[in-house]
Amino acid sequence: MQLDWRETDTILLDMDGTLLDRHFDDHFWLEHVPKRWAAHHNVSQKQAREQLHALFRSQERTLNWTDLDYWSDRLGMDIPQLKLEVEHLIAVHPGVTEFLTWAKQQGKQLWLVTNAHSKTLDIKLKKTRIGAWFDGVVSAHQVGLPKEDHNFWEALQRFVAYDPCRTMLGEDTEANLQTAQQYGIRHLIYISRPSSALTPKPSQQYHSIDYFTRLIPVPGSSCVQFAPQEGDAIHGP
Ligand SMILES: [Mg+2]
Repeated sequence: MQLDWRETDTILLDMDGTLLDRHFDDHFWLEHVPKRWAAHHNVSQKQAREQLHALFRSQERTLNWTDLDYWSDRLGMDIPQLKLEVEHLIAVHPGVTEFLTWAKQQGKQLWLVTNAHSKTLDIKLKKTRIGAWFDGVVSAHQVGLPKEDHNFWEALQRFVAYDPCRTMLGEDTEANLQTAQQYGIRHLIYISRPSSALTPKPSQQYHSIDYFTRLIPVPGSSCVQFAPQEGDAIHGP
C-alpha cells in the first residue's frame, strides 16, 4: 500500500499519544493522581490505584473519560492543578514538528482533532506550542461525542469541511480508526509508539508508523510506501 500525498488535502491528527508523548497521561492518571488521592484519604497507594483504576475504567469511551471538571468533582481534587505539578513530562514526540512543517509547506489543511478537554488543551498547547501549525483545533467536547462514537466523524463536518476520500487520519487508538473507517476516511495511520516508555507495537489492522518522519516522502516523490497489511486488497496472481 502507498499513501500518495497528491490525493490527500486534509490531515486530521489526534493529540495525546499521537503528537504528544502519552507517558505524561499514563504517569498522571496511573501514578500521580493515585499518589495524591492516597495522601488525601489516608489509604495506601496500592489501594488508591486499585480504586481509581476501576473508577476510570467505568468511564472509558465516554466524554467523561477526558472531562477534567467531571474528575475534579468526582474525586474532590483540582485535576488541572495536579496536571501542572507534572507538566514537565508533557512532550512532543520526535519527528512531529518536522512532519507538521513539511505538511504545511505542501499546503495541506491540518486539524488537531482530540477527545481532550479544553482545560487539558490549554495546558498542553501552552506548553508545546504545537497549535501554531494547525488550521484549527476541535475537541470532542465541542462535537458532543467521543471519537469512539460511530457518528463522530460525520458530526465533525460541522467544524471542518473535509472530503473523507481525500483525508488522512493519524491516531494511537484503533477504536477511533475503526469509526473513521466506517465513515469512509481513506488513509488511516496508526501510531505504534504512543509513549516513550513503551515498546512500539504495530497494529494488525492499520498501517503503522513509529515516527511521523515516516510520512515524509523522499525528495522528488509524492508517495510513501507501507508494508502490506491483512486488510489490504489482494491482487494477482
Ligand atoms: Mg490518542
